[in-house]
Amino acid sequence: MILVSACLLGVCCKYSGGDNKNQKVVDLIKKYNLIPVCPEQLGGLSTPRKPAEIQAEDAKKVLDGIGKVVNVCGEDVTQNFVKGAYETLKLANLYDVKIAIFKSKSPSCGCGFIYDGSFSGKLKSGNGVTTELLIQNGIKVYTEDDIDYKTIEKIMKIDY
Ligand code: SF4
Repeated sequence: MILVSACLLGVCCKYSGGDNKNQKVVDLIKKYNLIPVCPEQLGGLSTPRKPAEIQAEDAKKVLDGIGKVVNVCGEDVTQNFVKGAYETLKLANLYDVKIAIFKSKSPSCGCGFIYDGSFSGKLKSGNGVTTELLIQNGIKVYTEDDIDYKTIEKIMKIDY
């Protein structure tokens, strides 16, 4: 079982109404059970929606209730992002998932680097809100940039 950002599988759940289909990730379905999730939709946001970015120092602060996620129009969508993170964790626990492959740079799914909050396309170190919660709960998160069959097989052998 691998938890996957639904947009990487071609689901049109992206803020723009489009997807982030990645054939490398889609091909994993031949060998593994992939569970598609979109934390922002699970958090109650509509599609399409306005793009949002983390305004806090990091996602941990958002989860701790002392940082915000705000959309490009200045609306506070923190509660949606936190709800989406916990709903995703619920699914991960239900299926006993140990690994996730998430969309890079996203304020929900990003891992290692995310947009810096200025809506200018600049990146900073850090994780998306859902990624942070999953990591805090022992789930290993990778992005589509990190993976190929060989890497996944190696990871699966280590983790199972
Ligand atoms: S929240 Fe995650 S799954 Fe949903 S569109 Fe954004 S990157 Fe994709």
